[in-house]
Amino acid sequence: MSNTFFQPVSGMDLPRFAGIPTFMRLPHVPLDHVRLSEVQIGIIGVPWDSGTTNRPGPRHGPRQLRDASTMIRAEHAVSGVRPFEAKRCADLGDVGPNPADIHDSMKRITAFYDSVVKAGITPLTAGGDHLSSLPILRSVAAKAPVGMIHFDSHTDLYHSYFDGMMYTHGTPFRRACEEGLLDPKRVVQIGIRGTQYDSEDRDFARAEGIRIIPIEEFHARGPEDVMAEAREIAGAGATYVSYDIDFVDPTFAPGTGTPEVGGPNSYQALQVVRGLTGVNIVGADVVEVSPPFDPSGATAFLGVSIMFELLCQMAVQQP
Ligand code: MN
Ligand code: MN
Repeated sequence: MSNTFFQPVSGMDLPRFAGIPTFMRLPHVPLDHVRLSEVQIGIIGVPWDSGTTNRPGPRHGPRQLRDASTMIRAEHAVSGVRPFEAKRCADLGDVGPNPADIHDSMKRITAFYDSVVKAGITPLTAGGDHLSSLPILRSVAAKAPVGMIHFDSHTDLYHSYFDGMMYTHGTPFRRACEEGLLDPKRVVQIGIRGTQYDSEDRDFARAEGIRIIPIEEFHARGPEDVMAEAREIAGAGATYVSYDIDFVDPTFAPGTGTPEVGGPNSYQALQVVRGLTGVNIVGADVVEVSPPFDPSGATAFLGVSIMFELLCQMAVQQP
């Protein structure tokens, strides 16, 4: 690395409880910053939860995730990857949403990501509820549909809520398919479980060719086997990775609005991301961390640990 500007502040130099908590202690490079063009991977906060149908709170996610991310060190313990040396990474700040207007917020999010994509930066997002992924995909998949590897206990494929509300955190990927942002044949949803309203979401998945791997199959086969299939489904093409923290069992990730029991443990939560090696990741997010339901901060710490795993995959894969 020819300069030190893009290096995170080390806990060896300044204790990790000190300083301003940017993502991973990286420099804050807002969209009008002179060095934006040098950034390769941008970490972005989307403090927005207007798509939430039940217990709100993910609007507070990015701030708590930034704070928890000061726990992250520079080197991956297993792969030895040092993402901040492999790529120039920065905290690009938060998208400013309009909490009173869903459509205006989605426009603002898409406009922000349009600038990021135009600058050649691969985005790693801290949500926000899962509706955040839709306006992000409108940027990332603007030119051609992408594949998606989706970790969640829910499909988020429902048609609508509340007698015609098309935009909630239970509908983003239905809209993304309809808008031609996702190639359904290259989409896999892993960890699906919990009580259901009806089978309308899974009927849609079946009709479109989306592969659902329910939690029973995940536990029976194990993370490595499941991820081998996920890599095959995504193939070599551009792929988005969307990680709803409620994929993880609520014992490990209680701080979320719609928890479902019987999920993966915190180790398996990391293992699945380690199984993404070789996937052509054009963007990723970790969503639905809800600080009001996370008094210990454990969910946020798991969230940033997953973000670091994603960052390491992105750091060795991007050109
Ligand atoms: Mn979700
Ligand atoms: Mn979910």
